[in-house]
Amino acid sequence: MAELTAIKKFVILGGGTAGWMAATTLGNIFKGTDVTIEVIESPNVGIVGVGEATVPLFIDFIRRAGINEVDFIQKTQATFKWGIQFSDWRVKGEDYFHSFGDIGRTIDGHDFYQIWLKSRAMGDLTPLLAHSPEAQLAKHGKFYLPFNAAKTPLANARYALHLDATLVGRYLADYAQSLGVKRREGHVQNAVLDERGFIASLQCDDGASVSADFFIDCSGFTGLLIEQTLQAGYDDWSNWLPCDRAVTVQSKKPPETTPFTLVTARESGWTWRIPLQSRTGNGYVYSSQFSSDQQACNTLLNGLDTEAINEPRVIPFSAGIRRKVWYKNCLALGLAQGFLEPLESTAIHLVSKSLAHFIRLYPKADCATVLQDEFNRRIKADYEEIRDFLVVHYCTSERTDTEFWQYCRALTLPESLQEKLTLFRQQGGLFAGVEDFFQPSSWQMVLTGMGQLPDDYNRTVDALDYEALKRSLASGVNAIDKVVAAQPNHDDFLRQYCQAPRLG
Ligand SMILES: Cc1cc2nc3c(=O)[nH]c(=O)nc-3n(C[C@H](O)[C@H](O)[C@H](O)COP(=O)(O)OP(=O)(O)OC[C@H]3O[C@@H](n4cnc5c(N)ncnc54)[C@H](O)[C@@H]3O)c2cc1C
Repeated sequence: MAELTAIKKFVILGGGTAGWMAATTLGNIFKGTDVTIEVIESPNVGIVGVGEATVPLFIDFIRRAGINEVDFIQKTQATFKWGIQFSDWRVKGEDYFHSFGDIGRTIDGHDFYQIWLKSRAMGDLTPLLAHSPEAQLAKHGKFYLPFNAAKTPLANARYALHLDATLVGRYLADYAQSLGVKRREGHVQNAVLDERGFIASLQCDDGASVSADFFIDCSGFTGLLIEQTLQAGYDDWSNWLPCDRAVTVQSKKPPETTPFTLVTARESGWTWRIPLQSRTGNGYVYSSQFSSDQQACNTLLNGLDTEAINEPRVIPFSAGIRRKVWYKNCLALGLAQGFLEPLESTAIHLVSKSLAHFIRLYPKADCATVLQDEFNRRIKADYEEIRDFLVVHYCTSERTDTEFWQYCRALTLPESLQEKLTLFRQQGGLFAGVEDFFQPSSWQMVLTGMGQLPDDYNRTVDALDYEALKRSLASGVNAIDKVVAAQPNHDDFLRQYCQAPRLG
């Protein structure tokens, strides 16, 4: 029988964003103890080097890790992000914004979205986003730190970062090593299993054998431990998310950087534009069923705002998740765990969420099955929630101009999404699920942006005095406009507070 001993050694296979995030988290927890953490990075296999748009919880990750935010921003050439601008998704020529944070305030306990729906029904066509400070700051290219704007409508605004993925890896590698994490350069050829089928050691091509009690597989898409060794299996979701490739390219920095990610619907998928202090990251996520790599490359290059500075690179992927993300003494993180296209910048968030689940269910060296099962159930629910939110961007499009968009309109939806949409259509009322990442306000922004208004509003709102409501809504919008106008331009803010050193 396996002994109920504590884990004394972790080996993290892979030194991409996922590997170094895991090392930073564990390094902080076990700093000064007898638990050792070692990261193995291959000199032959590079990191994926994309993954440059984040969500606000990544800032929480940095702060919790004890990292200085300004130093991090400077060293990763980061810019600020209030949300995502969607162009040409419902129909060509139309935009909407998905901002971080809540929209509006509840009034006498009534959900703001219901109040907005009622005022719309009464003929007030003020856009929903006029009530979002983040969306207005983005629209006017402004940035200010919300916590320095106490007692204004900006005080609770949420922001995230755009980052240079390679520099993030380096930053976290240095930081984790300062916490005592060891780094080994070596190419792992195979893993040796013990009599329970647990991983006992990794064999490197220089002859080294590296053993540990627990292994974290951050080896990227190949999933060297979780799939190639333990054969955890993969749930493929490409029937719901048909894009299976991305082509990426970097381009010169434009004269002004926007405090938002731009995602534009294209013939067979969508393109992103992510502004950094030093350059712009661009990519086209597309379906190989409807576009060749060459066509995708042309679409991407023709749509650039500024001159390309490297050669385009094609990255294949398939949407889905490992059937077992934690299996025996191996936890898969990052691309080794699963993949959901980066439309809502959720992958890095899923790394920190996985780490949080793992810490909550922290095992002994025997890795009790009950802990693995609970972890796997929770992470699957996280993936399913995000999957549904991604699918909604496609299935609600009214575009019919290409075969890809016709295909998306005819998608058979996951049951969970179908139920949510049916509920929303009644009167826009939605509940956040336990530990959901996307709150009702996110669904409301995207569905409203896609022209999916509910059939009615919740009639309890009629109990409110409409004239008073009107005044309250107008004064809310005014207050946002006033405070937004007073904030600095995004580039000026960066120059003043967190200008990155120029890269040589
Ligand atoms: C096109 C695209 C766009 C994306 N955009 C976003 C985004 O905007 N926002 C977001 O949050 N996420 C995004 N992601 C996801 C994000 O890039 C990843 O989640 C993140 O970079 C983590 O990658 P990783 O560390 O798992 O893998 P990788 O970066 O691939 O690192 C793998 C590591 O494993 C090591 N390795 C592999 N094999 C061996 C071996 N045999 N021996 C030793 N070491 C080995 C390599 O050396 C490397 O260090 C995107 C992903 C793609 C594909």
